[in-house]
Formats: sequence, C-alpha cells, structure tokens
Amino acid sequence: MHIPLEAGPTPQPREGDMDAEALRHYGHQVVDWIANYIQSVHTRPVLAQVKPGDIQDMLPSHPPSQGEEMDQILADVERVILPGLTQWNSGRFMGYFGVTSAGPGILANMLEGAFNVSRMLWKTAPAATELEQITLDWLRQMLGLPAPLFGMIHHNSAIANVLAAAREFVPGLHIRQQGLAGRKEIPHLRFYASEEAHSSLEKAAILLGLGLESLRKIETDDAYRINVEALDQAIREDLREGWWPFAVVATVGTTSTTSVDPVESIADLCERYGLWLHVDAAYAGVAALMPEKRWLLRGCERADSLSINPHKWLFTPFHCSILYTRRPQALRATFSLTPDYLQSTEGCSGQAINLMDYDASLPHGFPALKLWMTLRYFGYDGLVANIAEHCRLARLFADWVEVSSDWELLFPTHLSVVCFRAHPWAIQSEERLDHLNERVLNRVNASGRCFLSPTRLKGRYTLRLAIGNLRTREEEVRLAWDELHTALRQELGVTPTLWSTLRQGRLRLLSFSDAPAKPNNLLP
Ligand code: PLP
Repeated sequence: MHIPLEAGPTPQPREGDMDAEALRHYGHQVVDWIANYIQSVHTRPVLAQVKPGDIQDMLPSHPPSQGEEMDQILADVERVILPGLTQWNSGRFMGYFGVTSAGPGILANMLEGAFNVSRMLWKTAPAATELEQITLDWLRQMLGLPAPLFGMIHHNSAIANVLAAAREFVPGLHIRQQGLAGRKEIPHLRFYASEEAHSSLEKAAILLGLGLESLRKIETDDAYRINVEALDQAIREDLREGWWPFAVVATVGTTSTTSVDPVESIADLCERYGLWLHVDAAYAGVAALMPEKRWLLRGCERADSLSINPHKWLFTPFHCSILYTRRPQALRATFSLTPDYLQSTEGCSGQAINLMDYDASLPHGFPALKLWMTLRYFGYDGLVANIAEHCRLARLFADWVEVSSDWELLFPTHLSVVCFRAHPWAIQSEERLDHLNERVLNRVNASGRCFLSPTRLKGRYTLRLAIGNLRTREEEVRLAWDELHTALRQELGVTPTLWSTLRQGRLRLLSFSDAPAKPNNLLP
C-alpha cells in the first residue's frame, strides 16, 4: 500500500509552534492517512518483516540540527516506521490478547494530545478528573458492580500501587514512613497468587523491594484455577514459619487460558486471615458486560481492589487500565504527598478529588476521554454485541479444532481465546509435538498473514488464538485456520492434494507415526 502524502505549504521558520494553518493542513493529511491505514491494515504483514537493527540502519544516527519539513517526517513514518511495526490493530492479529484501538479512541488520543492536561490536581484538569469518575462509574454500572467503588485509570495494571497500598493497610508496618531496609522487627511479607497469574506480580514485587520470594505461587487444578485448599495450607504454613501474609491476587481470565479463579472462596480466606484481596480481571473483566457472563465478577464486590483493562478487550487504545477499589483511603494513605508548589484549596477542603493523592506518580494526561468516547460511541448494546461476537468466533474455531483429526483443544474455550495444538494422530512423543507446534507457529507468523502466540500448559507447547480486534471476522478466523493447516502440511512434508484428501477424512497417512521416518516424511 502506498498512501501519497501531498506536498505541504512553504516551511515556516522554526520559531514557536507550527502555525494553525500548517497544523490544519498536516492534520487533515494525517487523519486521511489514518483512515486509509485502518481500511487497509489487513493487507499488511501482521508480524513486522524486519530484522533487529533494520530500523536503526534506516535512520540517521545524529539528531537534526535544522528543523525538517513535515512532509519529509511523515514520509518517513510511512517508509521506515510502518514496515517496522507488528500490526496490533489488524483483524489478523490474534496473539497475546487481541486488542483494538477503535475510531473513537484514536480521535480521543488526538484531542488528548491537543489538550495536554495533567490531572494531578482537580484544578489542573477539572473535566479530566470528573470525567474519569463519571466514566468509571458508568462502566461499574454496566458490569453490575455495587457502588460505591472508587476508580482511577492507569497506564497499565497498577499492581505495584495495589501491593503498596495493601502493605500500608497492614497495621503497625508503617512502610511508607520507615521503609523496609534494616528493620529487623519486620518479618518477610508474603502475597499469594496462582502459578497461572500474570508476571506483572513478580515485577511489582521487585519494584517494591519485597523480592521475588515474597510471591508464593499456588498450584492450580485441572482447569488452571487456583487450588483454594492449597492456598489455605500455604498461608497457614507461612504463618507458622514466621512470614507475614498480607495479600492474595485472584485472576479472572488468566493470560494463558483465560481460566477464572474461584473469587468467592478466596474472599472467604482473605476475610478469615485479614488479607487484602486484589482481583486481576485485566482481560476478562469486560466480558461480564454480557448478562450470561456476569458470573465472572461474582465475589469481586468483596475484593479490596480490582483491575480491568479497557485497552485489552474494550476497543480502547493502550494506556487505559482501570484500578477500582473499595478502599481509596488506603491508596491515599500510601501515596498522598503535597509539596508546597502543589497546594490546592479544593483538595484540602474535600470538595474535589486530586488524583495525584491516589497514585505513585503524578497522573498526567486525560485517559478518561478515550474511554468515555468509546463507551458513548458503542453504547452498552454495541459493546456487548462485539464481545459476544468475539466469543462466538472463538467457539467456532474451537469447534473446527475439536472435529479435526490433526489438532486438539488443550483447554475448553469459554471466552475469546482458544488454546490448542497440532496433534497428528500418530505422533505421541510430547517432545516431538512441542517441536512440531513451535515450528508450525513460527511458519504461520513468518508468513505475515496472521499472528498467533504460544504458551505452555502443563509443560505442553500450546498455540493461542486470541480474538479481540473489531476487524477480526469469520473470514480472518478461517484464514488463520487455513494458514495453520498449510504450515502443518509443510512441516510434515505432505503435498497439497494429499493434504486435502486427509483433511476431508478420506485417508489416514500411516507413515506419520513415531516409527522411523520415511524419506519424504519431514516430521521433527
Ligand atoms: N493481568 C493479566 C491477566 C494479563 O494478561 C496482563 C497482560 O496481558 C496483565 C495483567 C498486565 O496487563 P497491562 O500491562 O496491559 O496492564
């Protein structure tokens, strides 16, 4: 695709900002360009077809001393930057979690850039501060969560903030004031999550100086849900051995399989031991918009905090992760700090919220705008319809896998992610299956026609097809299925004609076994 960028007006001296006319001129070009890009993104290779260093090689190693023409800069966006991007906003992107930066969010990001506000204090951005409260309350209502529930938007799941608040909530520790280092009277702190929980927990433990050993990972059952009995035993054992348990993180929608921890039972335990309960519903939380999936958030009304990421499955651009909490005062007690230069009468009088009191860093920007515009544009019905369609497509793909003799499901599909692998009937060695699937995935992704990502389930190399982009329709899902078949066929060294006979179930290829390979048999 080549999108020509028209020549702009004569360049202005680089004093002050770009003038309004030039902004209008290039703004129109960029918006046209974005619309064309979105319209044709499916024609681009999904996985960037570049090697490490390629982009650097195309760019000067020295900064410009003279201002450059916008035409030139925009042309380089198309020439250098675009081919160096993996196309997350393509309907053929089905890796990790499928995401969408939809039109309303793209436009909101432009407005946010224009306003460039910092909502650290109410008065520095009253509308950004209040819109955040209103928008997050709308979403709370849509999800059927009980009020009151304080919410704030972060760039990413703010698990470090949560853990900092949770440990500050423990009476007598005073870590905010006295820190951890050198305090012999403070036992080692522990928090708990399943072995399927997201790696951001470990990162938070590192960041907070708790150390990786502070996270005790609990085994899961056959459905990859935390084993509550084992959690109970672990807490009791730690208490006996002098650890100080302070929090549990339950996951609603784990990264690998989208499994759902039994939040109600975990809430019982947390209440019994006085532990902070955080629910990580970063991906799956929004599925509770569908009445039939309301159960996903059952028990979350008892959680101390809950994270849900609209930037995952609610069609909102990145940097929109919500932290809801029933204990805003704990966040405030942890982070509130007002230097002289940030004093404000509204905050002191309790008339208004200063969001900087609830965050570890100064909350810049206007993130609610993109969520507000997205919620208004789609409305509850539109959001539900799209999420339900993604679930339907995932089930459809799972059905194809289930009835195929060469593939198998590795986890029941209940949301929009399918976990599966190639398993030609005669290959039994787990090691060979791992290699085969890894090579199939590499082939599919290298083709650039669609993109999937892997995980391991109980040690087995697993392919994940994750649907979450609004441009993923049945056509894209069929394409992915065909690509997988082609890659498998090529890995096995089977001709297209024979493969099509095999796919129709008319013949089974006896040479595909763990027995010694035939010359044309390219089994791993
Ligand atoms: N929690 C879960 C279950 C996830 O899958 C992820 C990312 O995929 C995260 C948390 C962290 O997400 P983010 O960094 O987008 O906030």
